[in-house]
Amino acid sequence: MNKEHFSVPNKPFSYKLFIDGEWVHAKKGKTFSRESPAHNTTVGIYEMADAEDTELAIEAAHKALEEGPWSKMSGAERSKILIKVADLIRENAKELALIETLESGKPITQANDEMEWAAGNWDYAATLGRHTKGESYNSLGEDMLAMTVREPIGVVSMITPWNFPLLIVSQKLPLALAVGCTAVIKPSEFTPGTTLKLGELLTKAGVPSGVVNIISGYGDPVGVTMTNHPKVSMVSFTGSTKVGKLIAASAGEKLKKVGLELGGKNPQIIFPDVNLEEVVDAVVFGVYFNMGECCNSGSRILVHDDIADELIQKVKEKSQQVQTGDPLDPEVKVGPIIHSEQKDKICSYMDLATSEGAELVLGGNSDENEAYVYPTIYDKVTPNMTIAKEEVFGPVLSIIRFSTLEEAIAIANDTLYGLSASIWTKDIDRAMVFSRKVKAGTVWVNTFMSGYAELPFGGYKESGLGREMGAYAIDEFTELKTIQVHIGEKTNWWLNK
Ligand code: NDP
Repeated sequence: MNKEHFSVPNKPFSYKLFIDGEWVHAKKGKTFSRESPAHNTTVGIYEMADAEDTELAIEAAHKALEEGPWSKMSGAERSKILIKVADLIRENAKELALIETLESGKPITQANDEMEWAAGNWDYAATLGRHTKGESYNSLGEDMLAMTVREPIGVVSMITPWNFPLLIVSQKLPLALAVGCTAVIKPSEFTPGTTLKLGELLTKAGVPSGVVNIISGYGDPVGVTMTNHPKVSMVSFTGSTKVGKLIAASAGEKLKKVGLELGGKNPQIIFPDVNLEEVVDAVVFGVYFNMGECCNSGSRILVHDDIADELIQKVKEKSQQVQTGDPLDPEVKVGPIIHSEQKDKICSYMDLATSEGAELVLGGNSDENEAYVYPTIYDKVTPNMTIAKEEVFGPVLSIIRFSTLEEAIAIANDTLYGLSASIWTKDIDRAMVFSRKVKAGTVWVNTFMSGYAELPFGGYKESGLGREMGAYAIDEFTELKTIQVHIGEKTNWWLNK
């Protein structure tokens, strides 16, 4: 692992809006800034776009879609450019990772990994550019041949959150570009840096002007305009279930397509017939990775009664080794919480856990003057407690005990979410029964939080709508057109019958 030490730059990074291939100021001349949650210093200054800037970005994307060349290029030509973007992300990974750590507070080693995963998504999308295809129908009678073709859905609005800024935009943008769409992107107001930097890389790689437009600003008015505008055909959103529902409702009024990747309350079910060391590692990684600010966070452990005490003791011991502190220190595994409201939200869940009767095993504390919440474990959580059902988005683990598979499945499914779930057992029947019955978009068996660009990702229930990644992304970002071709002289037209 790269153990290089980084430091806070002397002056903040500064960015403009990326509209129609140009770097421009916001029309009203306003800016906003971001303080590093760990260092109490300004690390980014951004243009504050409003509805007018957003409309310009959408118009540019629409013009690029209608006029080309991007939407009219061959898949092979687009693929070459997407591969160049992947290479450029890797070449610039050090700077991109630094920006993400400064803005989000995530440990620098995790930011570095994220850059590689993001680049991998661009590599993968390049393979799809050449596989956008439909079907043919040759069994409709001698005088008829029909086919379906896939066409880019149009201008896609992409609204992204603060927890994995470059990775999440890279779960949407390269796939949409691969099939010929154009895009307008709004990163979170807390972490716009790497998404704006991506604009520079896209230009270098040869993405034509107007194909991708990136604007910094607030959810209202920027995100709202991106959702309502008539020239936007699809809204692809990752973030809270609350905002996801607002977007679905307003996109629904105009019958726009939506892709929603929302929250999760992901259970890991642990049976006694496992190697506990492997499981403990997965539990600790699953809950503290990215400070628990992760839709896939393994924040809910369901452990079999027979091994509960032993597992909890081991998880506690390992959690005590997890270093919390300055995210620029490569030894640190848990950095600061993104902002004070999020920290307060996590603390209020910890208060609720105690008042509802959960037993504190470790942590439960935060530093009043700093942005840190220390690794926290609650035992004796029952399925009806708030901490067992709601997304905490912090380094807080809830442990629920169970005795049968049926009970574990019922508890696993007893939330509004359904993003991911995992089971640890060597019994294949048990693993498959669980995999079939759990209501989750992704199920892991004897592993946790692995992800591949080839595999679709998304959630059941209030965890979202649609799927990202994998070849399925072609369906997400295209319209399906049916073409029917009559062959030979038409003799059976109804007027001549
Ligand atoms: P939000 O859902 O509020 O923000 C996500 C994105 O949506 C941001 O770019 C935000 O803009 C934008 N946005 C906000 N309001 C609107 C709107 N009305 N129309 C269009 N876009 C809008 O998430 P938060 O950052 O507030 O986090 C709150 C909670 O959401 C967390 O505690 C966590 O539980 C969950 N969450 C889930 C994530 C996931 O990966 N599924 C990621 C992040 C959060 P702006 O930057 O201006 O706020």
